[in-house]
Amino acid sequence: MPQPQEEVLRVFLTDRDVPCPVCRYNLRGLGSTTCPECGVRLDLRVGSIDLKLGPWLLCVLAVAIPMGFTGILAIIASIGAQRSAFWGLEDWIALGGLWAMTLAYAVALTVLSKRRSRFLRRSPAGQWWRAGLWTAVMILSQAGTIWLISWYL
Ligand SMILES: [Zn+2]
Repeated sequence: MPQPQEEVLRVFLTDRDVPCPVCRYNLRGLGSTTCPECGVRLDLRVGSIDLKLGPWLLCVLAVAIPMGFTGILAIIASIGAQRSAFWGLEDWIALGGLWAMTLAYAVALTVLSKRRSRFLRRSPAGQWWRAGLWTAVMILSQAGTIWLISWYL
């Protein structure tokens, strides 16, 4: 019969120095499932020493940063479109382009999050190689966006 979670946690902490994940209080010998110092509820989980999130975070940031950049530009341009009396076809094309790029980045971020598990199962070298390539593609797309904006202005 399996032990209840609380019992497994209590046995685990009997002779180990483990800091509370919130306040860093030493939980050695803890008799309950809440931290006596800060009061957060605790549980025992399985982690992986092979899980390194650096390449994955690089991929996410390589999309999230340009998405934020184009998204803010699109919002500002939309406000400008509402207030301007001289808003022409070129302006609508530029505004549409900004929203289209923001949407494309959002789709890329969604695809990335759906492929997280597949990405993390690759070798560290394979992860870094893909993260570098992905970041280079995103930097080029941002350079293209800035070039388009300078052409528009
Ligand atoms: Zn605590």
